[in-house]
Amino acid sequence: MTGMTSSARPLLNRRLAEFGTTIFAEMSALAVRTGAINLGQGFPDTDGPEQVREAAVRALRAGHGNQYPPGPGIPELRTAIAAHQQRRYGMEFDPDREVLVTAGATEAIAASLLALVEPGDEVIAFEPYYDSYAASIALAGGTRVPVTLRPTTDGDASFRLDLDELRDAITPRTRLLLINTPHNPTGTVLSRAELTAIAELAVERDLLVVTDEVYEHLTYGDAEHIPLATLPGMRERTVTIGSAGKTFSFTGWKVGWVTSTPELVTAVRSAKQFLTYVSAGPFQYAVAEALALPDTYFSDFRATMTAKRELLATGLEDAGFTVFRPQGTYFITTDIRPLGFEDGFEFCRALPERCGVVAVPNAVFYDDRAAGAPFVRFAFCKQDEVLSEAAARLAKVRTQ
Ligand SMILES: *Cc1c(COP(=O)(O)O)cnc(C)c1O
Repeated sequence: MTGMTSSARPLLNRRLAEFGTTIFAEMSALAVRTGAINLGQGFPDTDGPEQVREAAVRALRAGHGNQYPPGPGIPELRTAIAAHQQRRYGMEFDPDREVLVTAGATEAIAASLLALVEPGDEVIAFEPYYDSYAASIALAGGTRVPVTLRPTTDGDASFRLDLDELRDAITPRTRLLLINTPHNPTGTVLSRAELTAIAELAVERDLLVVTDEVYEHLTYGDAEHIPLATLPGMRERTVTIGSAGKTFSFTGWKVGWVTSTPELVTAVRSAKQFLTYVSAGPFQYAVAEALALPDTYFSDFRATMTAKRELLATGLEDAGFTVFRPQGTYFITTDIRPLGFEDGFEFCRALPERCGVVAVPNAVFYDDRAAGAPFVRFAFCKQDEVLSEAAARLAKVRTQ
């Protein structure tokens, strides 16, 4: 017997063949087996505001959203999303025509690419990139064209975009730029100058832009999140993606959204309606309330995460890593070479046994695996005691 099919043809189609199980599954299993602290996958170990959780319970009990909600999302949430974009960025969106609720940012990304990309179109994404980008581009039949963010030690160590590389990557077949700021895994927040240059290229070459801004509320120090759609010429060509998961620490709810022009929202909705159709009914009511929380919620959240960033970054520095202090997100990318290691995969596979900590090799987020080889990512969306214990364990990384 050779399996259930009569031919030698592989079961998994060729668009998905290169995507095995994600590194997160392997590393989380390793964490469970070894009892290590899991700083690999980026989910908070504390739930978001009690008030928001209660709003979900109330909605569920009141029978709000227990049956299929409207395809574009409940009006209360679409109105709250539009109000959030207005209050925070001064952008106007019509809740009825320019907002679409999705099953997390993940579905928003997939639906945008499925809607806007023809087979053979090229999609430019910055690498290292969030793992669903490559799979979504592939599902859409597009060709992914990575542009590598390069480590620099000018000023604060960070990963930056080489605008010449981006310009050179654009061809007549380029359809779309897939941007992520604040950027996972590097923590880079694109500056106004960088965003302006990207916008000028998009306008000049008449490209669509999909921008993943799920970490919009997680910026540190002087870094400021600027939505690409606020720049000249971008409102009409940009699909902006947000999510409640990271901002409100409810990653299991999977409530995300798209804001764009009526035409682009209609296109994305055409794909979305055949993916999940709708999702998260009662949670949509709760997220509508969350988005209307006072500014203090967002500033307190940022302050809490700033302290956690400091706690883990200092621990990693003391342990001997080169630390790229993130300007945004809840991840820290490190370079392991000062510790005498070269290969992040090997390092991460051995780390749970050696130190009792799980991290993720950034190479999984690269096409150019060599470019990502020495970098390793740690998540700091964990309780302070967990981060302190992880730092204490990592202090022994040189000697064990
Ligand atoms: C977590 C994450 C997502 C997924 O968001 P969901 O709302 O949970 O689907 C998308 N993009 C980036 C960069 C992320 O880190």
